[in-house]
Amino acid sequence: TIGMIALDANGNLSGACTTSGMAFKMHGRVGDSPIIGAGLYVDNEIGAATATGHGEEVIRISGCHLVVELMRQGKSPQKACEEAVARIIKLTQNRKKDLKDIQVGFIALNKAGEYGSYCIQSGFNYAVYDDTGNKLIDADSFLK
Ligand code: ASP
Repeated sequence: TIGMIALDANGNLSGACTTSGMAFKMHGRVGDSPIIGAGLYVDNEIGAATATGHGEEVIRISGCHLVVELMRQGKSPQKACEEAVARIIKLTQNRKKDLKDIQVGFIALNKAGEYGSYCIQSGFNYAVYDDTGNKLIDADSFLK
């Protein structure tokens, strides 16, 4: 998935995502990316979030909607991503699935231009463009 979230000079938030889905997917599978609230969610009053990884896990918690709602409750983008990942981890453990077989990552941006990200496994990078230029950031992860 390629997910993009942005805050423009007028303070408006936007987002988009695109994906080829999972390799060897079942015919007709719909991942999280085309589902607003799962792979992408933007609320212009609060913030924006997008996800990558195993869409089934993201859909299970309405991931990006959850991230935005957590920001609405006052969480930073970073904390909101961490809490959404924590929910997926808990559900995975309840289903006795091995966490090593699952990857999900979220990035989030709020109305103030603060951003954050978190994923289950390491190796997820994201690019930021702001007043200071371009940077590539290594997302923090639950499994190091
Ligand atoms: N999230 C996508 C899906 O489940 C896969 C990806 O991140 O590339 O369809």
